[in-house]
Amino acid sequence: MKRALIVVDYTVDFVADEGRLTCGAPGQGLEERIVQLTGEFLQQEQYVVMAVDFHTSDDPYHPESRLFPEHNIAGSAGRQLYGQLEDVVQRCRDSAQLYEMAKTRYSAFAGTDLDLRLRARGIQELHLAGVCTDICVLHTAVDAYNLGYQLVVHADAVQSFDADGHRWALGHFRNVLGAQVVEGGTVIASSQS
Ligand code: ZN
Repeated sequence: MKRALIVVDYTVDFVADEGRLTCGAPGQGLEERIVQLTGEFLQQEQYVVMAVDFHTSDDPYHPESRLFPEHNIAGSAGRQLYGQLEDVVQRCRDSAQLYEMAKTRYSAFAGTDLDLRLRARGIQELHLAGVCTDICVLHTAVDAYNLGYQLVVHADAVQSFDADGHRWALGHFRNVLGAQVVEGGTVIASSQS
């Protein structure tokens, strides 16, 4: 089955100490695993998607303006991928296997061409990584489920600022979205187990 890795919002603003809406240490702890997964998928000539939040300053029409401080502003350092992931992506920027996309809502599918691109490539299985488990990863997973994709969530490559929300979302992926939840690539929980 053709697979794609979707890395959600692994940016400076969501991960670094100085980030505007940071997960902090739990998010920083994912760096090595996300870089590893990205390398593996690229090496296996699978599709890799960097789904990155995109906002403009002072947007009164955006629903997040009422909920969160400004983050991932277009052209800002905060919207750069965090740590070594930026270096890996820099090196592959011309690769047809890599798609760097802007999203303006929690879900990478909301108002984007992601579903069209995945279908054009015959991709049926989506592997999810990034932050936050219980916000943008969750909303992306719910949309993917509704669109009929099989889901694999990498528990060692997702995190949140909210430990309870993180745990809840992992259970929801498994029990409600039928996802395989894996660690080190090995299934730790699926809806069948
Ligand atoms: Zn946002």
